[in-house]
Amino acid sequence: MTYSYNRQASPFIPHTFQKKVEILDGIPRVLISPKAYSMMWNIVDIGDQEVGWLGAVSRKGRDFMIEEVFLCKQKVTGTTCELTPTGIAELVDGLCRERPDGMDVGSRLLFWGHSHVNMGTSPSGQDEAQMALFESQELEFFIRGILNKNGRMEFAIFLYESGVKIVDAEWAIYQPVDKSLRSAIEAEFKEKVQTQSDSFFSGIRDTLTGSGSSSRSKSAWNANSSSSKLTKPVAPAKPVAPVAPAKPVTPTEAVTPVAPTESVTPVTPTEAVIVVDPSDNPPKGFDVNDPDVEYDPESGQWYSKTVGKPNAH
Ligand SMILES: [Zn+2]
Repeated sequence: MTYSYNRQASPFIPHTFQKKVEILDGIPRVLISPKAYSMMWNIVDIGDQEVGWLGAVSRKGRDFMIEEVFLCKQKVTGTTCELTPTGIAELVDGLCRERPDGMDVGSRLLFWGHSHVNMGTSPSGQDEAQMALFESQELEFFIRGILNKNGRMEFAIFLYESGVKIVDAEWAIYQPVDKSLRSAIEAEFKEKVQTQSDSFFSGIRDTLTGSGSSSRSKSAWNANSSSSKLTKPVAPAKPVAPVAPAKPVTPTEAVTPVAPTESVTPVTPTEAVIVVDPSDNPPKGFDVNDPDVEYDPESGQWYSKTVGKPNAH
């Protein structure tokens, strides 16, 4: 006789769903170029009405980068701003005529920002209706920014394709390194920075014994050296703790914290983080002297503690 638990399956029926959303790689942020940041600040500063603008957006890994912003023709009142289709079309036409990359930039105008002047940065009913309109254009995503004169800048990222809206998304200013400076700095570096062994301690010894290079004692720094001569030997500096893992040598991209101006609330240190481009391995832009930066032996990568450990692949 066989003994079996193989009972007949019940038909599948929907249960009470959790409907949770888990973010795999961190919540997308809004990155802002210094140029776009300055332009938006000036627009907000100048306008005493609800002026709006559009911006060109690109993807940086999981994040969204506002590269440039553009004012377009509009009718404003104290409490509303209307970006007319004609105004937007004129802007795109102008870009295509005046810039070789105008077509590309015009196709990436996926950021709409506007000033609430002295009011809070929560969206109005009209602001929400505007975003629903963009959704009906079958766009993949769109970013909305609401700013005010109190130094507040609030972004929402609408991920239309996945039906997710990121409310009050984290933002940071993103400053790619200007590599065009490199050759000039390299030349200066070669001229001024020399590798030499024992130079520091022999310099100290010379000071103690009164011997050594005469050019040194003639310098302005040593003008009073006879009266301020050291009498005690100087203890050697503590040896530097060895640093095991190789570090990224040439940082090419980094985020600068928000430059504090009178009218902008400074960003707290946890917000002004180093931007880690997930495609970089090892990630660039790390300052290994930054206490926030740590080596993760598990993944073999450097990472920002604020941003979190990279995934081990
Ligand atoms: Zn508004």
